[in-house]
Amino acid sequence: TINGSKESKTPQDKLLGGLLTPDFDERSCVSRYYKSSLYRKPSPYKPSEYLISKLRSYEKLHKRCGPGTQAYKEATKNLIGHNDKNYANETVGECKYIVWVAVYGLGNRILTLASVFLYALLTDRVVLVDQSKDISDLFCEPFPGTSWLLPRDFPLTRQIDGYNKGYSRCYGTMLNNHAISANSTPPHLYLHILHDSRDEDKMFFCPKDQTLIDKVPWLIVKANVYFVPSLWFNPAFQTELVKLFPRKEAVFHLLAKYIYHPTNEVWGMITSYYKAHLARADERLGIQIRVFSGGAGYLKNVMDQVLSCTQREKLLPQVAGTQEVNVTQSKKVKAVLVTSLYPEYSDRLRNMFSKKDSSRGEVIKVYQPSGERYQQTDKKIHDQKALTEMYLLSLTDNVVTSARSTFGYVAHSLGGLKPWLLYQPRDASVPDPPCVRSTSIEPCHLTSPSHGCDADWGTDSGKVLPFVKHCEDRDNDGLKLF
Ligand code: GDP
Repeated sequence: TINGSKESKTPQDKLLGGLLTPDFDERSCVSRYYKSSLYRKPSPYKPSEYLISKLRSYEKLHKRCGPGTQAYKEATKNLIGHNDKNYANETVGECKYIVWVAVYGLGNRILTLASVFLYALLTDRVVLVDQSKDISDLFCEPFPGTSWLLPRDFPLTRQIDGYNKGYSRCYGTMLNNHAISANSTPPHLYLHILHDSRDEDKMFFCPKDQTLIDKVPWLIVKANVYFVPSLWFNPAFQTELVKLFPRKEAVFHLLAKYIYHPTNEVWGMITSYYKAHLARADERLGIQIRVFSGGAGYLKNVMDQVLSCTQREKLLPQVAGTQEVNVTQSKKVKAVLVTSLYPEYSDRLRNMFSKKDSSRGEVIKVYQPSGERYQQTDKKIHDQKALTEMYLLSLTDNVVTSARSTFGYVAHSLGGLKPWLLYQPRDASVPDPPCVRSTSIEPCHLTSPSHGCDADWGTDSGKVLPFVKHCEDRDNDGLKLF
């Protein structure tokens, strides 16, 4: 709902320094304007004036072009009407779109939708979101007076499932087949930005590619990686991005705070858990344990790695055993929030710290909200639990996350936290060192292009720009903003 008169009632701090529009009804989505000081320290990452004005004009564009408008009707009509290759000769209406398709786990989805939204901001496109999965059980509408959900009767709905690298309108495939050029552009293109993408697919953002893609009214994207770091390789985008995000490492943090507002149902889960277990602690530590080796469950080396990392980095005390503890001194309570598919990790930790006083005289309380055992993406309550846990982790003071996990990336970046990243074990032993402290709050682009754009072709992608480097948890691979 739109309510122009809300402005005076919604205080600036609830609008996160102007990042959020006041034009929403508060009760329909309590998390949007929640008093963040109740749950976390103030974020040092403030939105730039330029970002704020860009978001306000995006909101207008979305309202003008979104579902239900005349412009949307025209655009979808053109989509069916011109299945030949002469689309470049037609006039493109004032609205261009990018459709985000929900694929892979929730962490992947949250990272890719934010990436697609940023690309839309840079290219004046309207983002529409595939609603065939449970996105609206997880997040509120982010743009006032309109909807970001792709209407169910969108003409290509039934085909989208089958889009892949082999699809004739897949951008990389068209490039390879010389099927796209300045005077032959199709009415829609499919962008394939997945782990098995070719550089031709991944580098759709380069200047040469953009001259072709920019003419196409509809883009449909399947992605499972956070491709924001590579967008900076396009000099024109970079000029904009520097103005939008003077602090480069805050891109996801700010975008996520702008677009992702958990629904009232999920917000209830987050706040009730927080109040019951985390609110009263003196300090909060989050530990996210993701095991990638197939069907593994509880692994002793992973447990040992978590202990080794947290004790080495003084996040958790040594278990004292026989050490003397002055019981009269007032003890600090540290709440440890463990998230994992497997409950055994927190059971072990809890046992360790419940029996004995720790050497520093802290009381360690261990919690794990769920232990789902296996991934059940697209099951509503399972995904709601996953979102709840990512969010709860983001509300901790320090966080330890598993390398390569988009679940962990969302959690620390949303929280503005520099995580300790647990290296992925190569075998049944504990990696040495067990973890590394990240120097950036940004997520990693896991399967990044191997080199830079046009002029930087041939330059290792981690060496093109001083602030876009390989990820600490990826061994000379991946890209991350610092
Ligand atoms: P990634 O695979 O670690 O990159 O993260 P994703 O979020 O994309 O996919 C993993 C999925 O497995 C999550 O979305 C959840 O459905 C489930 N999952 C993994 N770890 C946890 C966890 O700690 N808690 C909960 N509730 N679910 C988890």
